[in-house]
Amino acid sequence: MKTVVVVGASLGGLRSAQALRRQGFEGRLILVGEESERPYDRPPLSKEVLAGKWDAERTPLIRSDDDEPEGVDWELGRRATALDADARRVRLDDGRELGFDGLVIATGARPRTLPGLEGRPGVHVLRTLEDCLALRSALDASPRVAVIGAGFIGAEVAATCRGRGLDVAMVEALPVPLERALGATMGELVAQVHRDHGVELRTGVGVSEVLGGARVEGLRLADGSEVPAEVVVVGIGVAPNTDWLLGSGVEVGNGVVCDARCRTSVPGIVAVGDVAEWHNPLFDERMRLEHWTNATEQADAATAVLLHGDEAPAYAPVPFFWSDQYDRKIQFGGRAHPDDETVVVDGSIEERRFVMLYGRGNRLRGVLGWNRPRLVMKYRGMIREGVPFSEARSPA
Ligand code: FAD
Ligand code: NAP
Repeated sequence: MKTVVVVGASLGGLRSAQALRRQGFEGRLILVGEESERPYDRPPLSKEVLAGKWDAERTPLIRSDDDEPEGVDWELGRRATALDADARRVRLDDGRELGFDGLVIATGARPRTLPGLEGRPGVHVLRTLEDCLALRSALDASPRVAVIGAGFIGAEVAATCRGRGLDVAMVEALPVPLERALGATMGELVAQVHRDHGVELRTGVGVSEVLGGARVEGLRLADGSEVPAEVVVVGIGVAPNTDWLLGSGVEVGNGVVCDARCRTSVPGIVAVGDVAEWHNPLFDERMRLEHWTNATEQADAATAVLLHGDEAPAYAPVPFFWSDQYDRKIQFGGRAHPDDETVVVDGSIEERRFVMLYGRGNRLRGVLGWNRPRLVMKYRGMIREGVPFSEARSPA
Protein backbone atom coordinates (compact mmCIF):
# COMPACT_ATOMS: atom_id res chain seq x y z
CA MET A 1 0.00 0.00 0.00
CA LYS A 2 1.68 3.22 -1.18
CA THR A 3 -0.87 5.93 -0.50
CA VAL A 4 -3.55 6.18 2.16
CA VAL A 5 -6.09 9.01 2.12
CA VAL A 6 -8.02 9.81 5.29
CA VAL A 7 -11.16 11.90 4.76
CA GLY A 8 -12.25 13.82 7.86
CA ALA A 9 -9.53 15.53 9.91
CA SER A 10 -11.04 15.46 13.38
CA LEU A 11 -10.71 12.90 16.17
CA GLY A 12 -11.27 9.72 14.11
CA GLY A 13 -9.18 10.97 11.17
CA LEU A 14 -6.26 12.15 13.29
CA ARG A 15 -6.24 8.97 15.37
CA SER A 16 -6.23 6.95 12.12
CA ALA A 17 -3.21 8.85 10.80
CA GLN A 18 -1.40 8.41 14.12
CA ALA A 19 -2.24 4.70 14.23
CA LEU A 20 -1.07 4.11 10.65
CA ARG A 21 2.34 5.61 11.41
CA ARG A 22 2.55 3.82 14.77
CA GLN A 23 1.86 0.53 13.00
CA GLY A 24 4.71 1.14 10.58
CA PHE A 25 2.98 2.54 7.48
CA GLU A 26 5.70 4.49 5.66
CA GLY A 27 3.87 5.45 2.47
CA ARG A 28 2.18 8.72 1.51
CA LEU A 29 -0.49 9.81 3.98
CA ILE A 30 -3.00 12.53 3.06
CA LEU A 31 -5.48 13.95 5.58
CA VAL A 32 -8.43 15.85 4.09
CA GLY A 33 -10.62 18.00 6.34
CA GLU A 34 -13.44 20.37 5.58
CA GLU A 35 -12.76 22.55 8.62
CA SER A 36 -9.80 24.91 8.30
CA GLU A 37 -8.58 24.30 11.89
CA ARG A 38 -6.14 21.55 12.73
CA PRO A 39 -7.93 18.74 14.63
CA TYR A 40 -9.45 19.90 17.91
CA ASP A 41 -11.42 18.27 20.67
CA ARG A 42 -15.21 18.64 20.77
CA PRO A 43 -16.13 17.62 24.36
CA PRO A 44 -14.98 20.95 25.91
CA LEU A 45 -17.20 22.84 23.46
CA SER A 46 -20.34 22.11 25.51
CA LYS A 47 -18.47 22.35 28.82
CA GLU A 48 -15.33 24.38 29.67
CA VAL A 49 -15.12 26.50 26.50
CA LEU A 50 -18.83 27.32 26.46
CA ALA A 51 -18.64 28.12 30.17
CA GLY A 52 -15.90 30.66 29.41
CA LYS A 53 -13.42 28.77 31.62
CA TRP A 54 -11.17 27.71 28.74
CA ASP A 55 -9.96 29.55 25.65
CA ALA A 56 -10.22 27.89 22.27
CA GLU A 57 -6.40 27.53 22.44
CA ARG A 58 -6.84 24.64 24.86
CA THR A 59 -8.76 22.43 22.42
CA PRO A 60 -6.15 21.25 19.83
CA LEU A 61 -5.68 17.47 19.71
CA ILE A 62 -2.06 17.85 18.59
CA ARG A 63 -0.34 19.29 21.64
CA SER A 64 3.22 18.07 21.25
CA ASP A 65 5.60 16.66 18.64
CA ASP A 66 4.66 13.17 19.83
CA ASP A 67 1.06 13.76 18.74
CA GLU A 68 2.06 14.92 15.26
CA PRO A 69 1.77 12.04 12.76
CA GLU A 70 4.94 12.11 10.71
CA GLY A 71 4.98 13.30 7.11
CA VAL A 72 1.29 13.98 6.59
CA ASP A 73 0.07 16.01 3.61
CA TRP A 74 -2.65 18.14 5.18
CA GLU A 75 -5.53 19.25 2.98
CA LEU A 76 -7.47 21.43 5.41
CA GLY A 77 -10.38 23.66 4.45
CA ARG A 78 -11.03 21.11 1.69
CA ARG A 79 -14.16 19.06 1.32
CA ALA A 80 -14.24 15.67 -0.38
CA THR A 81 -17.14 15.89 -2.82
CA ALA A 82 -17.09 12.46 -4.48
CA LEU A 83 -15.49 9.04 -4.46
CA ASP A 84 -14.73 6.94 -7.52
CA ALA A 85 -14.19 3.57 -5.90
CA ASP A 86 -13.26 1.77 -9.17
CA ALA A 87 -10.62 4.33 -10.15
CA ARG A 88 -9.66 4.65 -6.46
CA ARG A 89 -9.81 8.43 -6.45
CA VAL A 90 -11.32 11.03 -4.10
CA ARG A 91 -12.47 14.31 -5.66
CA LEU A 92 -11.99 17.55 -3.72
CA ASP A 93 -14.07 20.73 -3.85
CA ASP A 94 -11.29 22.54 -5.75
CA GLY A 95 -11.59 19.99 -8.56
CA ARG A 96 -8.41 18.05 -7.76
CA GLU A 97 -8.46 14.28 -7.44
CA LEU A 98 -6.42 12.24 -4.97
CA GLY A 99 -5.52 8.67 -5.86
CA PHE A 100 -5.30 6.11 -3.08
CA ASP A 101 -4.56 2.47 -2.35
CA GLY A 102 -6.27 2.62 1.05
CA LEU A 103 -9.00 5.00 2.24
CA VAL A 104 -10.23 5.79 5.75
CA ILE A 105 -13.66 7.41 5.93
CA ALA A 106 -13.82 9.55 9.09
CA THR A 107 -16.34 12.24 8.13
CA GLY A 108 -18.31 12.16 11.38
CA ALA A 109 -21.76 13.68 11.64
CA ARG A 110 -23.53 17.04 11.50
CA PRO A 111 -26.39 18.41 13.59
CA ARG A 112 -29.95 17.81 12.49
CA THR A 113 -32.00 20.98 12.28
CA LEU A 114 -35.68 21.83 12.35
CA PRO A 115 -37.28 23.06 9.10
CA GLY A 116 -37.03 26.82 8.59
CA LEU A 117 -34.53 27.40 11.41
CA GLU A 118 -31.24 27.09 9.54
CA GLY A 119 -29.31 30.35 9.63
CA ARG A 120 -31.96 32.16 11.66
CA PRO A 121 -30.33 34.71 14.00
CA GLY A 122 -30.57 33.63 17.64
CA VAL A 123 -30.90 29.93 16.75
CA HIS A 124 -27.75 27.86 17.37
CA VAL A 125 -26.45 24.33 16.90
CA LEU A 126 -23.27 23.04 18.56
CA ARG A 127 -20.83 20.87 16.68
CA THR A 128 -17.81 22.94 15.69
CA LEU A 129 -15.50 25.37 17.44
CA GLU A 130 -17.07 28.11 15.31
CA ASP A 131 -20.56 27.09 16.56
CA CYS A 132 -19.27 27.16 20.13
CA LEU A 133 -17.70 30.61 19.90
CA ALA A 134 -20.85 32.03 18.26
CA LEU A 135 -23.04 30.58 21.01
CA ARG A 136 -20.65 31.67 23.74
CA SER A 137 -20.66 35.24 22.51
CA ALA A 138 -24.49 35.19 22.36
CA LEU A 139 -24.53 33.95 25.99
CA ASP A 140 -22.34 36.90 27.02
CA ALA A 141 -25.43 39.13 26.61
CA SER A 142 -27.16 37.15 29.45
CA PRO A 143 -30.13 35.97 27.40
CA ARG A 144 -32.83 33.57 28.45
CA VAL A 145 -31.97 30.26 26.78
CA ALA A 146 -34.33 27.62 25.37
CA VAL A 147 -32.79 24.27 24.50
CA ILE A 148 -34.63 21.98 22.09
CA GLY A 149 -33.81 18.31 22.78
CA ALA A 150 -32.64 16.87 26.10
CA GLY A 151 -29.99 14.54 24.66
CA PHE A 152 -26.28 15.01 25.32
CA ILE A 153 -26.00 18.46 23.75
CA GLY A 154 -29.18 19.68 25.41
CA ALA A 155 -28.31 18.37 28.87
CA GLU A 156 -24.71 19.64 28.80
CA VAL A 157 -25.59 23.05 27.32
CA ALA A 158 -28.39 23.47 29.88
CA ALA A 159 -26.00 22.63 32.73
CA THR A 160 -23.30 24.99 31.42
CA CYS A 161 -25.79 27.83 30.92
CA ARG A 162 -27.13 27.37 34.46
CA GLY A 163 -23.50 27.47 35.64
CA ARG A 164 -23.29 30.87 33.94
CA GLY A 165 -26.37 31.95 35.91
CA LEU A 166 -28.70 32.09 32.90
CA ASP A 167 -32.42 31.25 32.84
CA VAL A 168 -32.76 27.95 30.96
CA ALA A 169 -35.73 26.00 29.65
CA MET A 170 -35.23 22.60 28.01
CA VAL A 171 -37.89 20.99 25.82
CA GLU A 172 -37.84 17.26 25.02
CA ALA A 173 -40.38 15.42 22.90
CA LEU A 174 -39.82 12.13 24.76
CA PRO A 175 -41.16 11.62 28.30
CA VAL A 176 -37.64 11.27 29.77
CA PRO A 177 -34.23 12.74 28.80
CA LEU A 178 -31.41 10.44 27.62
CA GLU A 179 -33.72 7.44 27.80
CA ARG A 180 -32.11 5.60 24.91
CA ALA A 181 -28.61 6.00 26.32
CA LEU A 182 -29.33 5.32 30.01
CA GLY A 183 -32.79 3.74 30.29
CA ALA A 184 -35.98 5.33 31.66
CA THR A 185 -35.16 5.26 35.40
CA MET A 186 -31.79 6.91 35.02
CA GLY A 187 -33.17 9.35 32.43
CA GLU A 188 -35.68 10.40 35.09
CA LEU A 189 -32.82 10.98 37.53
CA VAL A 190 -31.09 13.22 34.97
CA ALA A 191 -34.38 15.14 34.65
CA GLN A 192 -34.53 15.59 38.42
CA VAL A 193 -30.96 16.86 38.60
CA HIS A 194 -31.73 19.51 35.98
CA ARG A 195 -34.89 20.56 37.79
CA ASP A 196 -32.95 20.75 41.08
CA HIS A 197 -30.54 23.13 39.37
CA GLY A 198 -33.35 25.39 38.23
CA VAL A 199 -33.85 24.28 34.62
CA GLU A 200 -37.45 24.52 33.47
CA LEU A 201 -37.68 21.06 31.91
CA ARG A 202 -40.65 20.38 29.65
CA THR A 203 -40.88 16.73 28.57
CA GLY A 204 -43.35 14.85 26.39
CA VAL A 205 -44.07 17.92 24.27
CA GLY A 206 -42.73 19.04 20.89
CA VAL A 207 -41.89 22.49 19.59
CA SER A 208 -44.33 23.88 17.03
CA GLU A 209 -42.79 27.28 16.32
CA VAL A 210 -39.92 29.63 17.06
CA LEU A 211 -41.42 33.00 17.99
CA GLY A 212 -40.22 36.44 16.92
CA GLY A 213 -39.03 37.99 13.69
CA ALA A 214 -35.48 39.17 13.11
CA ARG A 215 -34.86 38.52 16.84
CA VAL A 216 -35.90 35.30 18.50
CA GLU A 217 -38.47 35.79 21.27
CA GLY A 218 -39.08 32.20 22.35
CA LEU A 219 -40.77 28.92 21.49
CA ARG A 220 -44.38 27.91 21.08
CA LEU A 221 -44.87 24.31 22.16
CA ALA A 222 -47.29 21.77 20.72
CA ASP A 223 -49.59 22.17 23.75
CA GLY A 224 -49.97 25.90 22.95
CA SER A 225 -47.79 27.13 25.82
CA GLU A 226 -44.89 29.53 25.23
CA VAL A 227 -41.30 29.60 26.48
CA PRO A 228 -39.67 33.06 26.33
CA ALA A 229 -36.03 33.09 25.14
CA GLU A 230 -33.58 35.26 23.23
CA VAL A 231 -31.28 32.32 22.39
CA VAL A 232 -32.43 28.91 21.14
CA VAL A 233 -30.08 25.91 20.99
CA VAL A 234 -31.16 22.98 18.83
CA GLY A 235 -29.76 19.62 20.01
CA ILE A 236 -31.94 17.04 18.31
CA GLY A 237 -29.34 14.59 17.15
CA VAL A 238 -26.97 14.24 14.22
CA ALA A 239 -26.87 12.80 10.70
CA PRO A 240 -23.76 10.95 9.49
CA ASN A 241 -21.80 12.78 6.76
CA THR A 242 -22.21 10.32 3.89
CA ASP A 243 -23.56 12.56 1.12
CA TRP A 244 -20.20 12.65 -0.68
CA LEU A 245 -20.32 8.85 -1.03
CA LEU A 246 -23.58 8.84 -3.00
CA GLY A 247 -23.28 6.63 -6.08
CA SER A 248 -19.73 5.58 -5.17
CA GLY A 249 -20.51 1.93 -4.52
CA VAL A 250 -19.72 2.26 -0.80
CA GLU A 251 -22.86 1.00 0.90
CA VAL A 252 -24.56 3.53 3.13
CA GLY A 253 -27.35 2.82 5.61
CA ASN A 254 -27.44 4.39 9.05
CA GLY A 255 -23.90 5.60 8.31
CA VAL A 256 -21.23 3.78 6.30
CA VAL A 257 -22.08 0.09 6.47
CA CYS A 258 -19.10 -1.99 7.69
CA ASP A 259 -18.39 -5.56 8.67
CA ALA A 260 -16.96 -6.62 12.02
CA ARG A 261 -13.50 -5.45 10.88
CA CYS A 262 -14.69 -1.91 9.95
CA ARG A 263 -14.39 -2.78 6.23
CA THR A 264 -16.88 -1.12 3.89
CA SER A 265 -18.47 -2.83 0.89
CA VAL A 266 -15.41 -1.78 -1.20
CA PRO A 267 -12.05 -3.50 -0.57
CA GLY A 268 -9.32 -1.28 0.89
CA ILE A 269 -11.82 1.22 2.32
CA VAL A 270 -12.59 1.32 6.05
CA ALA A 271 -14.68 3.67 8.19
CA VAL A 272 -14.25 4.94 11.75
CA GLY A 273 -15.99 7.12 14.34
CA ASP A 274 -19.43 8.72 14.28
CA VAL A 275 -19.93 7.90 10.59
CA ALA A 276 -19.28 4.13 10.84
CA GLU A 277 -21.97 1.53 11.40
CA TRP A 278 -20.48 -1.89 12.03
CA HIS A 279 -21.26 -5.28 13.53
CA ASN A 280 -19.92 -5.53 17.07
CA PRO A 281 -19.39 -9.27 17.68
CA LEU A 282 -19.17 -8.83 21.45
CA PHE A 283 -22.81 -7.73 21.58
CA ASP A 284 -23.81 -9.40 18.29
CA GLU A 285 -25.39 -6.08 17.34
CA ARG A 286 -24.97 -3.50 14.58
CA MET A 287 -23.92 -0.23 16.14
CA ARG A 288 -23.06 3.34 15.20
CA LEU A 289 -21.58 5.08 18.21
CA GLU A 290 -21.42 8.85 18.55
CA HIS A 291 -18.86 9.08 21.34
CA TRP A 292 -15.23 10.10 21.75
CA THR A 293 -13.73 6.81 22.94
CA ASN A 294 -15.13 4.92 19.97
CA ALA A 295 -13.57 7.29 17.42
CA THR A 296 -10.21 6.63 19.06
CA GLU A 297 -10.48 2.87 19.51
CA GLN A 298 -12.06 2.24 16.12
CA ALA A 299 -9.26 4.17 14.38
CA ASP A 300 -6.72 1.72 15.85
CA ALA A 301 -8.79 -1.30 14.82
CA ALA A 302 -9.71 -0.15 11.29
CA THR A 303 -6.18 0.93 10.33
CA ALA A 304 -4.80 -2.41 11.53
CA VAL A 305 -7.27 -4.09 9.18
CA LEU A 306 -6.27 -1.77 6.33
CA LEU A 307 -2.61 -2.79 6.80
CA HIS A 308 -2.95 -6.43 7.85
CA GLY A 309 -6.34 -7.67 6.55
CA ASP A 310 -7.80 -10.75 8.22
CA GLU A 311 -4.80 -11.06 10.52
CA ALA A 312 -6.13 -8.04 12.41
CA PRO A 313 -8.85 -8.80 14.94
CA ALA A 314 -12.51 -7.84 14.61
CA TYR A 315 -13.53 -4.63 16.38
CA ALA A 316 -15.41 -5.79 19.48
CA PRO A 317 -15.36 -2.98 22.05
CA VAL A 318 -17.47 -2.32 25.12
CA PRO A 319 -18.93 1.08 24.14
CA PHE A 320 -18.11 3.89 26.56
CA PHE A 321 -19.05 7.52 27.07
CA TRP A 322 -18.93 10.16 29.75
CA SER A 323 -21.02 13.27 30.23
CA ASP A 324 -20.24 16.06 32.71
CA GLN A 325 -23.31 17.89 33.96
CA TYR A 326 -23.05 20.30 36.90
CA ASP A 327 -20.65 18.66 39.36
CA ARG A 328 -21.53 15.17 38.13
CA LYS A 329 -19.39 12.87 36.06
CA ILE A 330 -21.75 10.40 34.44
CA GLN A 331 -20.05 7.45 32.76
CA PHE A 332 -21.56 4.53 30.92
CA GLY A 333 -19.97 1.34 29.60
CA GLY A 334 -21.81 -1.20 27.44
CA ARG A 335 -25.36 -1.00 26.12
CA ALA A 336 -28.61 -0.15 27.86
CA HIS A 337 -31.83 -1.85 26.75
CA PRO A 338 -35.38 -1.20 28.00
CA ASP A 339 -35.72 -4.87 29.10
CA ASP A 340 -32.52 -4.89 31.15
CA GLU A 341 -32.58 -5.83 34.81
CA THR A 342 -30.77 -3.17 36.84
CA VAL A 343 -29.16 -3.23 40.27
CA VAL A 344 -27.20 -0.68 42.31
CA VAL A 345 -23.98 -2.33 43.52
CA ASP A 346 -22.25 0.62 45.12
CA GLY A 347 -23.39 3.86 46.80
CA SER A 348 -26.98 4.99 46.52
CA ILE A 349 -29.16 6.85 44.07
CA GLU A 350 -30.31 9.21 46.86
CA GLU A 351 -26.69 10.32 47.44
CA ARG A 352 -26.26 10.61 43.66
CA ARG A 353 -23.03 8.70 43.92
CA PHE A 354 -23.48 5.12 42.77
CA VAL A 355 -22.75 2.34 40.32
CA MET A 356 -25.63 0.60 38.56
CA LEU A 357 -25.31 -2.58 36.53
CA TYR A 358 -27.50 -3.57 33.58
CA GLY A 359 -28.01 -7.25 32.77
CA ARG A 360 -30.01 -9.43 30.41
CA GLY A 361 -30.09 -13.22 29.91
CA ASN A 362 -27.73 -13.49 32.90
CA ARG A 363 -25.11 -11.47 31.06
CA LEU A 364 -23.61 -8.24 32.36
CA ARG A 365 -24.26 -5.75 29.54
CA GLY A 366 -23.89 -2.27 31.00
CA VAL A 367 -22.50 -0.21 33.85
CA LEU A 368 -23.48 3.31 34.81
CA GLY A 369 -21.46 5.35 37.27
CA TRP A 370 -22.28 8.70 38.86
CA ASN A 371 -19.08 10.13 40.29
CA ARG A 372 -17.59 6.64 40.43
CA PRO A 373 -14.92 6.54 37.67
CA ARG A 374 -12.69 3.71 38.90
CA LEU A 375 -15.50 1.22 39.44
CA VAL A 376 -16.95 1.89 36.00
CA MET A 377 -13.66 0.83 34.43
CA LYS A 378 -13.60 -2.35 36.53
CA TYR A 379 -17.08 -3.37 35.40
CA ARG A 380 -16.36 -2.36 31.80
CA GLY A 381 -13.59 -4.95 31.89
CA MET A 382 -16.01 -7.53 33.29
CA ILE A 383 -18.45 -6.87 30.42
CA ARG A 384 -15.60 -7.49 27.98
CA GLU A 385 -14.79 -10.78 29.74
CA GLY A 386 -18.44 -11.96 29.56
CA VAL A 387 -18.92 -12.21 33.33
CA PRO A 388 -22.44 -13.48 34.22
CA PHE A 389 -24.79 -10.86 35.68
CA SER A 390 -25.45 -13.03 38.75
CA GLU A 391 -21.72 -13.04 39.53
CA ALA A 392 -21.15 -9.34 38.83
CA ARG A 393 -24.06 -8.22 41.01
CA SER A 394 -23.13 -10.22 44.07
CA PRO A 395 -20.81 -8.44 46.53
CA ALA A 396 -17.18 -9.56 46.30
P1 FAD B 1 -16.28 14.41 13.87
O1 FAD B 1 -15.70 14.90 15.13
O2 FAD B 1 -17.66 14.84 13.48
O3 FAD B 1 -15.29 14.85 12.68
C1 FAD B 1 -15.54 14.65 11.34
C2 FAD B 1 -14.74 15.66 10.56
O4 FAD B 1 -14.89 15.38 9.17
C3 FAD B 1 -15.23 17.09 10.76
O5 FAD B 1 -14.15 17.95 11.00
C4 FAD B 1 -15.91 17.43 9.43
O6 FAD B 1 -15.84 18.80 9.08
C5 FAD B 1 -15.11 16.59 8.46
N1 FAD B 1 -15.82 16.28 7.22
C6 FAD B 1 -17.14 15.93 7.09
N2 FAD B 1 -17.43 15.69 5.79
C7 FAD B 1 -16.28 15.92 5.09
C8 FAD B 1 -15.95 15.82 3.72
N3 FAD B 1 -16.83 15.45 2.78
N4 FAD B 1 -14.68 16.13 3.35
C9 FAD B 1 -13.74 16.49 4.29
N5 FAD B 1 -14.01 16.57 5.60
C10 FAD B 1 -15.25 16.28 6.00
N6 FAD B 1 -18.30 12.27 23.39
C11 FAD B 1 -18.04 11.74 24.60
O7 FAD B 1 -17.82 10.51 24.71
N7 FAD B 1 -18.03 12.51 25.73
C12 FAD B 1 -18.28 13.85 25.68
O8 FAD B 1 -18.30 14.52 26.73
C13 FAD B 1 -18.57 14.44 24.42
N8 FAD B 1 -18.86 15.75 24.34
C14 FAD B 1 -19.16 16.29 23.12
C15 FAD B 1 -19.47 17.65 23.05
C16 FAD B 1 -19.83 18.23 21.84
C17 FAD B 1 -20.18 19.68 21.78
C18 FAD B 1 -19.85 17.43 20.66
C19 FAD B 1 -20.23 18.05 19.33
C20 FAD B 1 -19.52 16.08 20.71
C21 FAD B 1 -19.17 15.50 21.94
N9 FAD B 1 -18.84 14.15 22.05
C22 FAD B 1 -18.56 13.60 23.28
C23 FAD B 1 -18.82 13.28 20.86
C24 FAD B 1 -17.43 13.19 20.20
O9 FAD B 1 -16.84 14.46 20.13
C25 FAD B 1 -17.59 12.58 18.81
O10 FAD B 1 -18.03 11.26 18.97
C26 FAD B 1 -16.30 12.64 18.01
O11 FAD B 1 -15.98 13.98 17.69
C27 FAD B 1 -16.42 11.83 16.72
O12 FAD B 1 -15.26 11.98 15.98
P2 FAD B 1 -15.25 11.76 14.40
O13 FAD B 1 -13.86 12.09 13.96
O14 FAD B 1 -15.84 10.45 14.08
O15 FAD B 1 -16.28 12.84 13.80
P1 NAP C 1 -28.77 13.01 20.92
O1 NAP C 1 -27.97 12.68 22.12
O2 NAP C 1 -29.08 11.98 19.91
O3 NAP C 1 -30.11 13.65 21.50
C1 NAP C 1 -31.07 14.29 20.72
C2 NAP C 1 -32.34 14.39 21.55
O4 NAP C 1 -33.28 15.26 20.95
C3 NAP C 1 -33.02 13.03 21.68
O5 NAP C 1 -33.53 12.88 22.98
C4 NAP C 1 -34.11 13.15 20.64
O6 NAP C 1 -35.17 12.26 20.86
C5 NAP C 1 -34.53 14.58 20.84
N1 NAP C 1 -35.28 15.11 19.70
C6 NAP C 1 -35.24 14.70 18.41
N2 NAP C 1 -36.07 15.46 17.65
C7 NAP C 1 -36.65 16.35 18.50
C8 NAP C 1 -37.60 17.41 18.33
N3 NAP C 1 -38.09 17.67 17.12
N4 NAP C 1 -37.97 18.13 19.42
C9 NAP C 1 -37.45 17.89 20.65
N5 NAP C 1 -36.56 16.87 20.88
C10 NAP C 1 -36.15 16.13 19.82
O7 NAP C 1 -28.08 14.19 20.09
P2 NAP C 1 -27.54 15.60 20.57
O8 NAP C 1 -27.84 15.84 21.99
O9 NAP C 1 -28.03 16.58 19.55
O10 NAP C 1 -25.97 15.45 20.44
C11 NAP C 1 -25.35 15.54 19.15
C12 NAP C 1 -24.16 14.61 19.07
O11 NAP C 1 -23.12 15.02 19.93
C13 NAP C 1 -24.47 13.18 19.42
O12 NAP C 1 -23.73 12.40 18.54
C14 NAP C 1 -23.96 13.03 20.81
O13 NAP C 1 -23.58 11.70 21.10
C15 NAP C 1 -22.74 13.95 20.76
N6 NAP C 1 -22.43 14.46 22.10
C16 NAP C 1 -22.02 13.56 23.02
C17 NAP C 1 -21.77 13.99 24.29
C18 NAP C 1 -21.32 12.99 25.30
O14 NAP C 1 -21.09 11.84 24.96
N7 NAP C 1 -21.17 13.41 26.55
C19 NAP C 1 -21.93 15.32 24.64
C20 NAP C 1 -22.38 16.21 23.69
C21 NAP C 1 -22.63 15.75 22.41
P3 NAP C 1 -35.19 10.85 20.00
O15 NAP C 1 -34.29 9.96 20.79
O16 NAP C 1 -36.61 10.46 20.01
O17 NAP C 1 -34.68 11.14 18.62
